[in-house]
Amino acid sequence: INQSRKNWGSPMMFPYRMERVRPIIPATSPQPISPGQCVLYWMSRDTRVQDNWAFIHAQRMALQARVPLLACFCLVPKYLGAPLRHFQFLLGGLVEVQKECSQLNIPFHMLIGFAKDVLPQFLKDKNVGLLVNDFSPLKGPMSWMNEAKERMDGTVAWDQVDAHNIVPCWTASDKEEYGARTLRSKIHKVKDRYLTPFPAIVKHPYSMIEEMPQIDWVACEASLEVDRSIGAVDWAKAGTSHSLVTLHSFITKRLPNYGKRNDPNVPALSQLSPWFHYGQISVARAILETEQAAKDKPSLRAGFDTFFEEAVIRRELSDNFCFYNSNYDNIDGAKPWAKQTLLAHMKDKRPILYTFKELEECRTADDLWNAAQMQMNREGKCHGFMRMYWAKKILEWTENPQQALEFSIKLNDKYSLDGRDPNGYVGCMWSICGTHDQGWAEREVFGKIRYMNYNGCKRKFDVAGFVSKYSKY
Ligand code: FAD
Repeated sequence: INQSRKNWGSPMMFPYRMERVRPIIPATSPQPISPGQCVLYWMSRDTRVQDNWAFIHAQRMALQARVPLLACFCLVPKYLGAPLRHFQFLLGGLVEVQKECSQLNIPFHMLIGFAKDVLPQFLKDKNVGLLVNDFSPLKGPMSWMNEAKERMDGTVAWDQVDAHNIVPCWTASDKEEYGARTLRSKIHKVKDRYLTPFPAIVKHPYSMIEEMPQIDWVACEASLEVDRSIGAVDWAKAGTSHSLVTLHSFITKRLPNYGKRNDPNVPALSQLSPWFHYGQISVARAILETEQAAKDKPSLRAGFDTFFEEAVIRRELSDNFCFYNSNYDNIDGAKPWAKQTLLAHMKDKRPILYTFKELEECRTADDLWNAAQMQMNREGKCHGFMRMYWAKKILEWTENPQQALEFSIKLNDKYSLDGRDPNGYVGCMWSICGTHDQGWAEREVFGKIRYMNYNGCKRKFDVAGFVSKYSKY
């Protein structure tokens, strides 16, 4: 991987696709950075150094202006009910980022607090001429940005880069797409323009006068106001280095089975979603490597094509939905047909009602559902097929669709390492509100929303085998 990057020389030599960049505060002059200033990359969604178009843009601009380059992360005390498990994964990844930055002569700062409280002063202290940040379509990160912008005096130019998607979200489509079918053709049309090798972030030749900052990681963790009872999981270690190990084991061991990915007893999935979520690995890197593997070994081609569909089309569809639909996490975000059918069946008698606590503690009468929830609690990730069954049952067992959505999002965000992600909101909306799906035969409670049941799972895979793995704590 390193060699494939080095072939490009410095990011200055690389033809950068400027559509990846959108100005948040446009520069008032053609050269926004004057001598004595620097460029700052505010890292948030994409917590990696290499294979990161936001970092590459920041370094290009700094090299062009012959000024130092800095990076920072704003650590908020809490976020959407995420417990210590998720923050440890984030911080573990940032430890690697800091080390790599200091080797590359790029001071990396941890700013403790919300951007609005820490960033404006930091920009002044460091005499920043250009701020670069990465893109997220979610309301939380958008509000961190907007609040920080309000407190800035408008003299610092600010560029935002979509470093998460292969095709920049705003370029792929200018509206909420109807489904995978409509986005697929748009992405395939321009894919070769954006799925290119990455230039490396190189050792930065212009230095700050300051020393490389030391970070007190213990103090960072202590600053959090989170549930500390849900801790790290064994199988997923934080950081880009571990993401690359997981990518390698996917290509060599699980990709050949990817066609069987709907059987939760078969190790077929990439398992990359926690690292994708935190941006510790770029999806484009995973695609470039799996594509190369499929070129070298044609038997992997079918697996690669399906992986592309999931990791690019489905995932970028989730970003599209959250970017263009501000009701991405509630029933008002559903299409009219889905809202109508759910409303028509709102009063239908549910077979049984469970409280949030009963669900969280895996105490339903359905052993398969309990096993899925237990997998999420214990491993910080539930199998993709089981997630659909899991959310659909919540629709059946709660007072109304809005409550089903609230419970499923809250459980997913709390226990899943990859939660609090556009994919999570869209996954719950797909299961409960038919988002990106079609109407099916009408039935009690579900209306025309696609139905799944226990017997259907029994026909597809060894239910008892799956349950036995997650029957006890
Ligand atoms: P792989 O099959 O190896 O997929 C590779 C990547 O493709 C994933 O990491 C993901 O980025 C993307 N992908 C796969 N399936 C989907 C999908 N259906 N929609 C969008 N992108 C997809 N995914 C999350 O990343 N975070 C979540 O919080 C999340 N919550 C979900 C909740 C529900 C109710 C449902 C039905 C789905 C949810 N998904 C979520 C989507 C999907 O189940 C996971 O992406 C997948 O299980 C992650 O495991 P993996 O990386 O091993 O999957």
